[in-house]
Amino acid sequence: MNNILREPLTEYLSAKQTTFAGNILADKLRNEFPKEIESIIVDKTRYKVVGSPGMGNWAECPWIAILDTLITDSVQSGYYPVFLFKADMSGVYLSLNQGVTIVKENYKKDTKKVLKLRAEDFRAKLDIDPKDLLDIDLSSDGLNAKLYEAGNIIAKYYPLEELPSSEKLRLDIFHFLKLYEELTFNDTQLSEEKQLTAIEKKQYRLHFRIERNSSIAKQVKKVKGYICEACDFDFNSKYHDLGFEFIEAHHLKPISTLGIGKFEINLQTDFVVLCSNCHSMIHRLSDPSDLNRLREIIQKGY
Ligand SMILES: [Zn+2]
Ligand SMILES: [Zn+2]
Repeated sequence: MNNILREPLTEYLSAKQTTFAGNILADKLRNEFPKEIESIIVDKTRYKVVGSPGMGNWAECPWIAILDTLITDSVQSGYYPVFLFKADMSGVYLSLNQGVTIVKENYKKDTKKVLKLRAEDFRAKLDIDPKDLLDIDLSSDGLNAKLYEAGNIIAKYYPLEELPSSEKLRLDIFHFLKLYEELTFNDTQLSEEKQLTAIEKKQYRLHFRIERNSSIAKQVKKVKGYICEACDFDFNSKYHDLGFEFIEAHHLKPISTLGIGKFEINLQTDFVVLCSNCHSMIHRLSDPSDLNRLREIIQKGY
């Protein structure tokens, strides 16, 4: 089993000197190695393993990804565990990472920033082991490598001289599939409340990710204060010290506009601070960006 790591690490650089088409190692990366991983996965209908030595020519960093087809059926979008080989073949990462193609299309030059922001949000949902790596280095200046580095959620590193036994590798793969499952579960929870299309679900996830991002929320509260902007509730006066500086940030951009166009965050105009009740209620409105409607309901009762 650990040949799926050893063979590329020891043979890729010399294979790269030869013709891409028909190369045996390239073929193994596409077919044999993914099949080997697939053979240890219990739920074969749900997961799909794909590998690539490059498209039409040698990639700097070949990869083998395990896709949960509930999340994504292509490496271009979503998130997934992936073996990423360093360009100098000194080692390989098992990284829980993100598809970059779709993000790149939507966010252009902000792609790296968006991937990093999302990685941070993903991490917030996981139990992180101190041994997990939050940063990876693929020893390449290529754009794809840089985006994979930005998209890393957590990773494990295997240097060539310290490759894991097949058994250890199997356990690591299972561990990453478990983390993957944790992220998936949290995701579906978010959108349970409403009947949503796939795109709307994505937009809702983005909404929640933005407002649950701890550094953004912190800045919003600094700018907006701690009094509910819908009902004027003040946690501090109700709950005294316990409620000191407690409030929730709500991202006010219409959900239907999220993920389209440029990714920009304006702390002044894009957010309101709400008490927990008003935050729940505003999400029950057909348009959760309509603060005036919520105020009207509170004041007039209809
Ligand atoms: Zn309120
Ligand atoms: Zn909200």
